[in-house]
Amino acid sequence: MFDDTAKEKFGKSTLIARAGIDSDPAHGSVTPPVFLSTNYSFYGYSKKRPYDYARGGNPTRDMLGKALAELESGYHGVITASGMAALDLAFQLLETDDLLIAPHDCYAGTYRLLCARAWQRHFRVTFANLTDGDRIEELFTSAKPAMVLIETPSNPLLRITDIARVVSLAKKVGARTAVDNTFLSPILQKPLKLGADIVIHSTTKYINGHSDVVGGAVISASKELHERLAWWANCVGLAGAPFDSFLTLRGARTMPLRVGRQTESAGAIAEFLRKQPGIDAVYYPGFKTHPGHDIAARQQSGFGAMISLEIKGGEKNLRAFLETLTGAEDSLFSLAESLGGFESLAAHPATMTHAEMDPEARRRAGIGDNLVRLSIGLEEADDLCAALGQALEHAYQ
Ligand SMILES: *Cc1c(COP(=O)(O)O)cnc(C)c1O
Repeated sequence: MFDDTAKEKFGKSTLIARAGIDSDPAHGSVTPPVFLSTNYSFYGYSKKRPYDYARGGNPTRDMLGKALAELESGYHGVITASGMAALDLAFQLLETDDLLIAPHDCYAGTYRLLCARAWQRHFRVTFANLTDGDRIEELFTSAKPAMVLIETPSNPLLRITDIARVVSLAKKVGARTAVDNTFLSPILQKPLKLGADIVIHSTTKYINGHSDVVGGAVISASKELHERLAWWANCVGLAGAPFDSFLTLRGARTMPLRVGRQTESAGAIAEFLRKQPGIDAVYYPGFKTHPGHDIAARQQSGFGAMISLEIKGGEKNLRAFLETLTGAEDSLFSLAESLGGFESLAAHPATMTHAEMDPEARRRAGIGDNLVRLSIGLEEADDLCAALGQALEHAYQ
């Protein structure tokens, strides 16, 4: 097993390939075993082992937490049952009357959770456009938040927030920053290196990458924060199942390869889409014309594998496009929510991920009725381009 200096010494592929390898003293198993036991015996009277009860601690879960913390250059990670549980865990750091400032276009589940917590008066919430640097300086100074939540790139329009800038403005008013890094994974963006205190993941997406485990992680920069979060995770009982951690670590071993290939394909597909006549707009931070391009180029090590596009025409054209793209037996895209798996997906935010928003709010957020979000998988980029081209042809027949 690696010691604490490993995360500075080795690259990300090395860290995740070797995480927990050859660490079993009982049998010398090369891949780490999964520990399912709910309880652990004491050595003897009043002599506790590192683990006693699995709600509070489990070796398999801890191994994943450590591996993800190495990738994010953090101290340690708490593994939770879902991405939403990870967000709610981070919010346990807030007390009554504390203010959380969150992005106005955050993940829909996060928006729902924050509205519910604010309604319960667990803490106060203000939604703001964190991509607007001048306005947020004013807002932070007057509102004095205790915590700022960042999510970049945003969903589904892939707007970019300048993490280092928001972190420094938050620090000036004594606020912590938590970054939801789900859309890029630690392979493409490392918020703790940019000064953030906490990184949150839905490991359901790129980290597991195989669309078969729902899970989350909260990785802290400091020991002090990690211990507070681990205390709350045990208190509330929101830790992930050991078997899910085992599967997620197994999935994460190929994350650098997957994310690299998916990012490369997305770049080629975005270029292809831009040249198609049936499209009004392509949202992809890799384009020089994207308003967040320069910040993305600076703070990310790749532009990610998500693309959104606006189909020309009305609902008839949109329907024909999606039916051809996702509805045939040999379709290469599935009409489904979620993202970050090995399989390519197409989602229609207005009737799927963002259906709970009222139409007027959607319009204000820039989410048009003909917007389609793509999560690019591991199929050949040429095949995916051909499928998109064919669907566009059908859309305007
Ligand atoms: C999916 C997602 C979540 C929620 O994660 P679950 O694992 O579905 O609970 C939170 N934030 C972002 C950005 C997501 O994409």
